[in-house]
Amino acid sequence: MWRSAAALRALRGGGPGAPRAASGAAAAQLRQRLENELEDIRGAGTWKSERVIASRQGPWIVNFCANNYLGLSSHPEVIRAAVEALEKFGAGLSSVRFICGTQSIHKDLEEKIARFHQREDAILYASCFDANAGIFEALLTPEDAVLSDELNHASIIDGIRLCKANKYRYKHMDMRDLEAKLQEAQKHRLRLVATDGAFSMDGDIAPLREICRLAQKYDALVFIDECHATGFLGPNGRGTDELLGVMDKVTIINSTLGKALGGAAGGYTTGPKPLIDLLRQRSRPYLFSNSLPPAVVGCASKALDLLMESNAIARSMAAKTQRFRSKMTAAGFTISGKDHPICPVMLGDARLASVMAEDMLNRGIYVIGFSYPVVPKGKARIRVQISAVHSDEDIDRCVDAFTEVGRKHGALP
Ligand code: PLP
Repeated sequence: MWRSAAALRALRGGGPGAPRAASGAAAAQLRQRLENELEDIRGAGTWKSERVIASRQGPWIVNFCANNYLGLSSHPEVIRAAVEALEKFGAGLSSVRFICGTQSIHKDLEEKIARFHQREDAILYASCFDANAGIFEALLTPEDAVLSDELNHASIIDGIRLCKANKYRYKHMDMRDLEAKLQEAQKHRLRLVATDGAFSMDGDIAPLREICRLAQKYDALVFIDECHATGFLGPNGRGTDELLGVMDKVTIINSTLGKALGGAAGGYTTGPKPLIDLLRQRSRPYLFSNSLPPAVVGCASKALDLLMESNAIARSMAAKTQRFRSKMTAAGFTISGKDHPICPVMLGDARLASVMAEDMLNRGIYVIGFSYPVVPKGKARIRVQISAVHSDEDIDRCVDAFTEVGRKHGALP
C-alpha cells in the first residue's frame, strides 16, 4: 500500500541511467549549502516527507487529509464523465487556449461556473495557483492598492508580489487594522481587498460582512479565494459569500476545481464580464500555459451538475463535521475554527504533531502533522479534513484513535 522513499530509490537502481553529479567548486559549494539547510530542517523537526501511495485508497486506511470535502473525486458519475470526455475530446490540446486550445467543453464549463456563482462570466486556469498568479498583475497598476490578509494563501501572496500596485498587509481578520489601511489607501485610484474565504490552516472563515461593509465605506472592491469553500459553504454550497449573505458585494472570486469540485486539477476566476475579457487578453498564466485537459473538464463539469441538482452531499458533510468537532472537544482536544470541515487539532509542538500523525497511520487513520513554515512556530497541529464519504463509524474510529494516541504521547491527561 505505502512505498518508502528508500524502496523507491532501490527500485530506480544504478546503471547507465543513474544520476550524474555536476563537478566543479561552485557545484560542490551549492551541494554543501543545500545539505546544511536540509539538516537544519530535519533538526528542527519540521521535515515534510511525501508518503507514496501505490494503490487505490482502501478500507484499511481512512483518509482524513484530503481536500475531497464532498467525496466527488471518487464519485462514479464524476469518473464516468471524465472517461467520456477523454474519449470524445482526446487527452489534451497541446496548446494554450488562444492558439488552438479551446474546445466546446471549456466554454461550457466556464458558463457553468459563472452560473453556479451567479456571476457574469468565468475564465479557466490550470490551477487556482495560476488564477491567483494572474489576476493582480492584470488588474492593478501602480496607481492602485491591494490590501491583503496576512495569512492569505501563498498563491495570493505570490500573485500580489507580481503586481505593481501599492501593497498593504492587514492583521489576520482584524477589521480595525483593515479600516486603518483602507484609510491610508484612500489616496490611490482603486482599492482591492483580498482575502481567503476560508483559511486552510485554521479552518476559520473571513468576516466577509464586515469586510464588505468597510469596502463600501471606503469605496473598495472585494476579492475572495474560495478554494476551501466552493461547493459546500452556504445553504447551496456557493461559498463564503453565500454563507454570509454578501453574494452581491463580492466582486471577484477565484477558486479551484482540485478540491471539492472533483479533485483533479484546475482553477478559475469568476466576476464581471469586462474583467474576465481583460484576463483573457492579459493574464500571463492563462496566455502562456496549456488549456485544461478534457478529462479534468469532464470531472469538474459533472461535479457542478451534481451540486446544482441537490445540496444533500454538502449537508451530509456538515453533519459529519459537527460530529467530529463535538466528540474531539469532549475528548479534551482543542479544535481550531468553527463549523468548517477543516478541523485542526492544535498540539503546539512540531515533533508531537509528527509522531502522533505517524501513530494515527499505524491505527489506519491517515492524517498529517503541520509545522513551521506552513504554520507559525509553536502552533503545530494535525489537520483533519472531514469528507462526505466518511461514515459515522469512520469519524468515531478517528476520534478513538486520537484519544488513544493523545494519551500515549501526553497530549491528553
Ligand atoms: N488557494 C488556496 C486557499 C488553497 O488552499 C490552494 C491549494 O492548496 C490554492 C489556492 C491553489 O489551488 P490549486 O491546487 O488549484 O492550485
